[in-house]
Amino acid sequence: MSQILIPDFGRSTSLLYQDLYFAKKKPVVHTTVSEAACTVCQKGLDDGMSITAKRIGLHLRLFCQYHFPQE
Ligand SMILES: [Zn+2]
Repeated sequence: MSQILIPDFGRSTSLLYQDLYFAKKKPVVHTTVSEAACTVCQKGLDDGMSITAKRIGLHLRLFCQYHFPQE
C-alpha cells in the first residue's frame, strides 16, 4: 500500500491518494539460452539425464551419461 499526500490541491486543502499501484513495465529479456540437452539423443534434465559439457575442438557439446565420449 502506498499513500501520497498532495497539499493545497485545487479548492481542498489537501488530497490524499491511497492504494496506488504503479504498473511497472516488464523488461523484455533477449536471451539465447536453450535447455541443456544431449547432442546425440536430445534428452535433457527433464528426462532424468545427467548432462555434461565437453569441449570438442572449438565447440562445446553437451552429452548425457550414456553418450559422453570416452577418452
Ligand atoms: Zn544422449
